[in-house]
Amino acid sequence: MQLPDKGRDWDSLRADLVERGSKDAKWRDGKTAVYVFNAGEDVATIQKEAYTAYMSENGLGPAAFPSLAQMEKDVISMALGLLHGPKGATGAMTSGGTDSITMAIKTARDFARASGKAQDKANVVLPQSAHLAFDKACHLMDVDVRRIALKTDGSYEADVAAMEEACDADTIMIVGSAPNFPHGIIDPIAELGEAAERKGLWLHVDACVGGYFAPFARMNGVAVPPFDFEIPTVHSMSADLHKYGYAAKGASTVLFRSDALYQHMPFDFACWSGAPMMTPTLAGTRPGGAISAAWAVMNYLGVDGYCRLQGEVCATRERVEAGVSKLGFKILGKPLLGLVAFHHPDHHAFAIYGEMYRRGWFTSATVEPPSLHLMLSPKHSEFIDDYLEDLADSVCTVAAGEGAKAAEKAEVRYS
Ligand SMILES: *Cc1c(COP(=O)(O)O)cnc(C)c1O
Repeated sequence: MQLPDKGRDWDSLRADLVERGSKDAKWRDGKTAVYVFNAGEDVATIQKEAYTAYMSENGLGPAAFPSLAQMEKDVISMALGLLHGPKGATGAMTSGGTDSITMAIKTARDFARASGKAQDKANVVLPQSAHLAFDKACHLMDVDVRRIALKTDGSYEADVAAMEEACDADTIMIVGSAPNFPHGIIDPIAELGEAAERKGLWLHVDACVGGYFAPFARMNGVAVPPFDFEIPTVHSMSADLHKYGYAAKGASTVLFRSDALYQHMPFDFACWSGAPMMTPTLAGTRPGGAISAAWAVMNYLGVDGYCRLQGEVCATRERVEAGVSKLGFKILGKPLLGLVAFHHPDHHAFAIYGEMYRRGWFTSATVEPPSLHLMLSPKHSEFIDDYLEDLADSVCTVAAGEGAKAAEKAEVRYS
C-alpha cells in the first residue's frame, strides 16, 4: 500500500476496517481461547471510554499529567494490596508481561552488579515451563538462561531441588510461575522461597496470567497455595492487567518488595543536548489510555466484580475438565485458575487441534507434551458446550483416520 494522494472519508474507512476484520478469529463468538479476554460488553465499554478519555495524554510526563501519575500509583497500590506487598513495596505499570519481565531482570542484574555479584556473565535459572519472555529479555541483556526440567511426577511443577543445584555465584534470579502458561500450573513458590533464602537469591514470581486471578480464586474458596509477596524472599513479581485484570491492552505491572530494589530500575539521564529525563521502564512515551483504562476497569469491577468473573472462569474450566475427560483426554497436572491443557493418550493432540481449527476454533497448544490448551474468559461459559461438541466430533474424525492430513497442516505456531 502507498499513502493515498488524497485522504479518504471516515465512513468508508470505518467500513473498510470492519471488512478487514471479517476473516479474523471470531473472538466475539467465543471461538478463541488465547489473545483476547472477554469479560462482556459492560467491561468493553469501560475500557473504550476510559482509554479514549486519556488517549492523547502521555505517561512520560507525570508533572504535566499528575492525573496519570496518580492513577498509576493507585493501580500499583491496588496490585500490592492484592499480592501481599509489604510496607514500602512499590512498582510501575508497563506495556505488558514481556516488558515487566524485562524490567525485573534488568533490575535484578543491576542490583547484583551493585552488590559486587555477577560481574562477568550473569545467569537466570528458570523452570522449563517459564515464559519465553525471560529468554527474550536475557538475550537483550546478554544474560545466560538455565532452563531446568520440570518434576517428573505428573504435577508439571518446577523442580526446586534441580533449580537450586543449577544456581551459582553468577545467578541473579530464580523464577517461579503462578501459573505457567503452557500447563496453567502454579509452581511451588514457597519451596522456591526457601531455596532463595538458603542461597541468598532474588526470587521473581511471574504472575503475568495469574496475578489478577489467583487472589480472587482464593477468596472464592479455591485452595491457592502462597505465591506472592506473602513469601518473604519474593523480590519481584510481574502481573498483567491486560489479561485477567480485564484492562485494555498495553497494561501490566512490575512490582518490587522494597524501594531499595526498585531503585535499580529507572533510567535517569542528563548527559545529552536535551533536558534531563527519568523513565521508570523501557518505554519513553507511555499511552495514557492504557493507564486510565486499567484504573477505571479495576474500580468498576472491585473485589466483588473480579470474584464473580473469576468464579465463572473456574466453573467453565471445571466443565472443560469434566467434558474432555469423558472424551478420553488427560488433564495436565491440577490447574486451579483459568488455564487448562489436556492431551490424548490415543490420538495426536495436533491432529485434533487441526480439526478444531477447521471448525473455527483458535486456541493455543502446548508442546511438552502435545496438548490442547485453553485460556478461558468469563464469556466462554456461553460457548463451552459448543466447544466440547466440536471436540467430540474432532476426536471421532481423527480416530477415523481422516485427521492425518490435518495434523501435517496444523498451524501450532500461533504468532
Ligand atoms: C502472557 C504471559 C507473559 C507475557 O506477557 P505479554 O503481555 O504477552 O508480553 C509472561 N508470562 C506468562 C506466564 C504469561 O502468561
